[in-house]
Amino acid sequence: MADPHVVILGAGPAGVGAAYKLRRRGLARVTVIEQQSTVGGNAGSFEAGGQRLDYGSHRLHPACDPEILRDIRSLLGNDLLDRPRHGRIRLRGKWIHFPLKPLDLLLRLDRRFAAGTALDITTRKTRRHRSDSGEDSFASVLMASLGRTICEEFYFPYARKIWGREPEELSGIQARRRVSAGSFGKLMRKVLSQIPGLNQRGAGRFFYPRNGYGEISEAYADAARNLGAEFLLEAKVTALQLGGGIGGRGWTVSVDQKGRLLSLDPDYVWSTIPITLLTRLVCPAPEARVLEAASSMEYRAMLLIYLELDEDRFTEYDAHYFPGADIRITRLSEPKNYSLNGRPGRTTLCAELPCSPDDHWWKMSDYELGTIVAEDLARAGLPLRRNPVAVHAKRLRHAYPVYTNGYEKPFGILASWVEGLPNLLSYGRQGLFAHDNTHHALFMAYSAADCLTDGVFDHAKWEDYRRNFATHVVED
Ligand SMILES: Cc1cc2nc3c(=O)[nH]c(=O)nc-3n(C[C@H](O)[C@H](O)[C@H](O)COP(=O)(O)OP(=O)(O)OC[C@H]3O[C@@H](n4cnc5c(N)ncnc54)[C@H](O)[C@@H]3O)c2cc1C
Repeated sequence: MADPHVVILGAGPAGVGAAYKLRRRGLARVTVIEQQSTVGGNAGSFEAGGQRLDYGSHRLHPACDPEILRDIRSLLGNDLLDRPRHGRIRLRGKWIHFPLKPLDLLLRLDRRFAAGTALDITTRKTRRHRSDSGEDSFASVLMASLGRTICEEFYFPYARKIWGREPEELSGIQARRRVSAGSFGKLMRKVLSQIPGLNQRGAGRFFYPRNGYGEISEAYADAARNLGAEFLLEAKVTALQLGGGIGGRGWTVSVDQKGRLLSLDPDYVWSTIPITLLTRLVCPAPEARVLEAASSMEYRAMLLIYLELDEDRFTEYDAHYFPGADIRITRLSEPKNYSLNGRPGRTTLCAELPCSPDDHWWKMSDYELGTIVAEDLARAGLPLRRNPVAVHAKRLRHAYPVYTNGYEKPFGILASWVEGLPNLLSYGRQGLFAHDNTHHALFMAYSAADCLTDGVFDHAKWEDYRRNFATHVVED
């Protein structure tokens, strides 16, 4: 049987990872369709002010699956840097090192915060007992495991900023999948892992490509291209019509590439674009309940505001985290401090401002957004020493899936609808509505390729993988 033709929608890590794996194992002919002019999706990079920059602070976590890490190492060679983590969290007006260090906590932690946390530790058994009410929200899960002080001073205000919702409105799944230090035991292990001799391999370190985080996706895409995959960039998928291909179970994919209309007839479509968008592209259109489910699901957007400064270095840190409600941005990174690329005498800061496309922030000019960042930094005790030489903003429409209480129901409706469509797979961060890291998106891509044998997709094996994906915990 001739190799099947797989069309992959989206060239983020999930798309390029699958293209590479399918071609390396000679499993299929591959065409990747990406609306942007570059690959990498939210994990991509671009150049500005003589420096390669990412869409917010991105790092490759040592928790990466060993096979994937091996591939990334062999694709990037010496470009994959092993870097120490060196960040700070602003907690009740004080700076705490991140990752947390025992001595630093002892010396710098605000006394009221320390006393409150100590009390929460001693009362955690009774608190667990009392919280046995059956409620399963982000708020109830973290209150039961971490107590009032850490929740109210750190996780709850951070959650309001990141997801734009009250902690009680968010699902308990968000706490379990998003908060890797979700109990005192895990928190202590993280703190202790910073002590030399007690540290696990990789603790307090991360991998970062010399030419920006996007180099990972670019290397996968280049390798896939060299193995015969075709990439259509600046090409937007506009419709997916069922029919044709293997026994009428294939697809016709309509694409608009810079005004040129293309039509492809693959056997399989592997989609990494938002699952909610997929419902609007598939013909025949899904029934009303599927469309209603899609419209009830939310992705949080993100403004990334870059300030180019006429100085060699703004601070020594890779990132500053701002959980507090008094500061609007959630994180400020200084890529030059960990990427080792950049011009002497210049540095660029990247501020992350989560929001909704309906917020007034979304429509602000780059200059106005720069003013927000400058004000926030001054309030946090990190005033800009000079006006930036340039300010520019990027807008991510699908930055984070928002797990509101009961989101599993509409997501379940969408997942069953996709499962009922022949030869269509929806995966990746956007396709499975998964708050995942890059290495998780790559793991999904490798798993999908592993399910294709002799042109036939093994759905039972994919279901096993899906259960495994549900165990992924996001690393910060
Ligand atoms: C601010 C921020 C910080 C992060 N930090 C980290 C980190 O430190 N470490 C880490 O491991 N992960 C991090 N992540 C997560 C990481 O970015 C994602 O896990 C990764 O991008 C997911 O890859 P993906 O391919 O599944 O999805 P995406 O990267 O979202 O790719 C989807 C692609 O589909 C394309 N697309 C959409 N619609 C269409 C269409 N109609 N036609 C054609 N193409 C289309 C998009 O343009 C995009 O390229 C971070 C994410 C954010 C938002």
